[in-house]
Amino acid sequence: MADYYDVLGVSRDATTDDIKRRFRVLARETHPDANPGDSAAETRFREIAQAYEVLSDPGKRAAYDRGERFGTDLFTSGATLEEILAQFFGAGVGGFGGFTTRPARRQGRDLAVTVDLTLDEAATGVVREVTYRSAVTCAACAGAGSAPGRSPTRCGSCGGTGQMRVARSTFLGSMMTVTECSTCSGWGEVITDRCPACAGRGRVDDTITITIDIPAGVDHGTRLRLGGRGEPGERRTPAGDLYAAVRIAPDERFERRGDDLHHHVRLGLAEAALGADLKVPLVGGELLDVEIPAGTQPGTVFRIDRQGMPRLRRRGRGDLLVEVQVVVPTDLTEEQAEAIRHYGELHGENPAASRKKRRLFG
Ligand SMILES: [Zn+2]
Ligand SMILES: [Zn+2]
Repeated sequence: MADYYDVLGVSRDATTDDIKRRFRVLARETHPDANPGDSAAETRFREIAQAYEVLSDPGKRAAYDRGERFGTDLFTSGATLEEILAQFFGAGVGGFGGFTTRPARRQGRDLAVTVDLTLDEAATGVVREVTYRSAVTCAACAGAGSAPGRSPTRCGSCGGTGQMRVARSTFLGSMMTVTECSTCSGWGEVITDRCPACAGRGRVDDTITITIDIPAGVDHGTRLRLGGRGEPGERRTPAGDLYAAVRIAPDERFERRGDDLHHHVRLGLAEAALGADLKVPLVGGELLDVEIPAGTQPGTVFRIDRQGMPRLRRRGRGDLLVEVQVVVPTDLTEEQAEAIRHYGELHGENPAASRKKRRLFG
């Protein structure tokens, strides 16, 4: 961690006034309002604020000078930039480059549902019905929160602005602090006659069923966003979004890698050596005739173009990769063993005389 004196650019014998003066200059330079969207400036501002928090406090400064290193309250508590600004400049400061705290948005929450699919359904796309609990707009008041025929009244505390402005003097000069009006919670109006159905919330809980169009090519873990299908916001503010998370059941025929599908076939010795005609499954349920050539080695992969998964929201498909495994027989009859021994002799091999399994060690 950088030395706090270096961060502020003051000497170790600087007075508290020197430190304040220096902080005021640096805070103006690096204040987030003066550098919107500049994360380097924000980091620098945090460092400066942290150094100032310690060096401006005689007790903390003395401890720091003795070599004690401690987490400062603001920064170890995981405070947000807004909270740090509020600590040094008051909660939301007007007149300091225009930094103000806006009333929190009452947008509806995002919701999530899970959609279970088979691989075949993921390959074709499917229309799926899902049911979930959510707040919905209150039908009685159409979301307004007031009893039918009544309207909210303008908040007398803030005159309808939703904000309270308080002038305060700080070491940076006089500043206008803007906070949310506590009477109306920032709405600017007050519901005097609450809708009896929703108690003024404008929303009630309900069970919702919707159909979701799942496009072809989705993968396990794909999240589909349905804009505005989440919880409605309070008092007609925008609704949240609904996220449908796709879960695809394991498929014993295929292993999916991106848009490619991998299928494993097991060949006998004779099939691998002499070639074979196989039927390979395709996603969707059909079978494809595949000719395995003579002399196919274990681990060989045959690529069948465009028989994998469709590409999500794009043209084309992945491929089907057929990987060959050659199975060496383990439980031969005497007759089969004799045939293989005969082959071995013709091939110049030197197989064991007995068909009994031999142990390599002990
Ligand atoms: Zn209502
Ligand atoms: Zn108000």
